[in-house]
Formats: sequence, C-alpha cells, structure tokens
Amino acid sequence: MNGPIPRGGVLEIPIYVPGRSRVDGRDRVIKLSSNESALGTSEKAIAAYQALAGDLHRYPDGAASELRKAIARVHPAGGNALNADNIVCGEGSDEIIHLLAAAYAGSGDEIVHTAHGFVMYRLAALGVGAEPVAVPERDWTPDVDALLDRVTDRCRVVFVSNPNPTGTYLPRDELTRLHDGLPDHALLVIDAAYAEYVSRDDYASGLEFVGAADNVVMTRTFSKAYGLAGLRLGWCYGPTGVIEVLNRLRGPFNVTAPAQAAGVAAVEDTEFIERARQHNETWSSWLQNELSRMGVPYIPSVANFVCAEFSNESKSATAAIDHMMGDGVLVRDMNAYGLPNHVRITIGLEEETRAVVESLRNFLG
Ligand SMILES: *Cc1c(COP(=O)(O)O)cnc(C)c1O
Repeated sequence: MNGPIPRGGVLEIPIYVPGRSRVDGRDRVIKLSSNESALGTSEKAIAAYQALAGDLHRYPDGAASELRKAIARVHPAGGNALNADNIVCGEGSDEIIHLLAAAYAGSGDEIVHTAHGFVMYRLAALGVGAEPVAVPERDWTPDVDALLDRVTDRCRVVFVSNPNPTGTYLPRDELTRLHDGLPDHALLVIDAAYAEYVSRDDYASGLEFVGAADNVVMTRTFSKAYGLAGLRLGWCYGPTGVIEVLNRLRGPFNVTAPAQAAGVAAVEDTEFIERARQHNETWSSWLQNELSRMGVPYIPSVANFVCAEFSNESKSATAAIDHMMGDGVLVRDMNAYGLPNHVRITIGLEEETRAVVESLRNFLG
C-alpha cells in the first residue's frame, strides 16, 4: 500500500457487517436482522423530529441539556432521579464506546471484553491501538471468574453487555462481584442496550453501581426499544471524573438537534416503552416455545431476539438463513460473534414472528 500509513491496529479492524436489509427481486422483506424495534417509533418522537425541520440551519444545543434532563427524570436509581450532570449523550452508544476506549486506553494497554459481547468493543480497542482481550463465557454468559482472572495491570477498560448479544444476562450479585474484584485502574463499562426489555427481579442495568463508585459507567441506546436506530442516539451515566473526560473528548455538537428533540419525546413516552416490553415478552416467549416444539435448541433470551442453533450438517445455520431469505425473512448470522452455528432472530410483529416459525417449519421439513 502506498501513501500514509495508519497507526498500529487500524488495519486489523474488520469492516463491520450490518444485518441484511434487502433481498434481490423482492420489494418487501421481513427484516429481523438488527434487533430494531418491532413497534416502530413512538408517534410523539416522530412529531418532535418533524417539528425541527424548519430549524436545521441552527446548531444543536451542544450540551443536550433538555435531553439529559428528560433522561434523568425518567430513570430513577434507587428511588431518586438521576443527576443530569452525570449523563453524556452520543451519536449512538457506539460513539460512547469509542470515546471510552479512546479516553482510557491506547498502545500497550488491554481492553477486556467477553467472547460473545458486542463486537464493537474489539473494533474500538483496535482503533485506539490497544489490545482487545476476549474472555471465554460460560453458557453464553459473561463469566465473572474468568474475567477477573484475565484482568492484568495493563487492563484499562472492561466491557460487558448486559443483556449479552446472546440474549442472556448477568444477575445483579454477579455484576457486583465483578465490580468488587476489579482494580481501581480498570473502568467497568456496562452496556445495557437491551435493558428496557428485561423484567427480572435480579437484573440490574448498572445505574445503581454508578453512584457508588468512580470506575463504573453504564451505556444505553435509543436504537432498540425506543425505535430510533436511524437517528443515532445513545447515552451514558457515569461518575463525574469520567463524564468530564468524555465532555472534553466528544465533538461539541455530537448529537443532532432532531435527535435531541426526538429523544426527549421518546424518553417521556413511557407508555410506548411499556407496550414494547409487553409485546416483546409475549412474542419472545412464543418464539422460544415454538423453537422447543420444533426441536431447535436456542439460548434462552431476556432481550428482543433469540439465538437459535442449527448444528446439523444438512440443516446448518447458513442453510437456515438462506431458506428464510427465500421466504423474505432476514435474520442474522453470528459469525462475527464466533457462533457459526447460531442464527439470531429479532422479535418482530406478530405476523412477522409467525412467518419465522412457518419458514423454519418448512426448512426442517
Ligand atoms: C445495538 C447495540 C448497541 C449499539 O447501539 P447504538 O446506540 O445504535 O450505537 C450497543 N450495544 C449492544 C449490545 C447492542 O446490541
């Protein structure tokens, strides 16, 4: 290659492969490949977005003040509202993940993540020249002992997805054990992208850990339950030290004005989120049940997707994906997660979820 040479690690970054959204020769597909919201977007958020159209010549509020206040009001932590000063908003939680990696790690440092955690952690580590360390999971769930064993003096950041991209979650006491075992120089980032969907008593999004320690950050997204993936909006809640660092490093106008306006309306539409949670509970249970009835093993999921396993040579994951694609149903392969025998299916509307089962039934014969 001629021309300028990028920093070490950059050329090792694999190009991110998003979930498929088109099939040649088909106008309409059922897209269940990116864990997007089954119910679309809150009408209130759409209206707030549209209302901004006349003001596009103005810079956004660089501090995203209204949005941070709205987020703080709606998310109680131990009965109290969050402190809006301890929130940073970003262009998706992807941006926050990259900012955290860039702020705390670089060449010679390690960024620890779990084997089937969000792929972005590894990409962010490589992007800042740090070494990504993938720690094996147990039952497709982060393994606290394995993580603690692998945290060295060189570790700067530990990323865990909770829920995990496999659909499992770490209960509160395990998260506590992980945090308690970490040295102060390691920042624990709890990525709770699917928190809105979880209704288990022993689940903690991580908010309550943030107030009690200097080295825990929780990240959230508007891309999943809130149905705003196209706008790119995420946020994090962290201790003052970390928040100050992120505010120095981020772009001064990193969140667009329409994204802020839609975000305020979306976060205040708690009825929409409750509907999304209930819809997901109903159809995720239904899908998991139907998979059992068809004899298809799957990873039990608390999020808005289910990973089904097809390890039979003649009925492989690739064959299942191709078959479903022939029926216009787009699902996700798990190759980037090192799970080549799994197929990840997002929970869609009732008819979409039924179409998945219908297609799989034909596939299995
Ligand atoms: C989708 C997802 C995100 C990223 O969300 P954006 O806010 O759209 O960047 C982060 N973490 C996990 C685990 C996800 O599944």
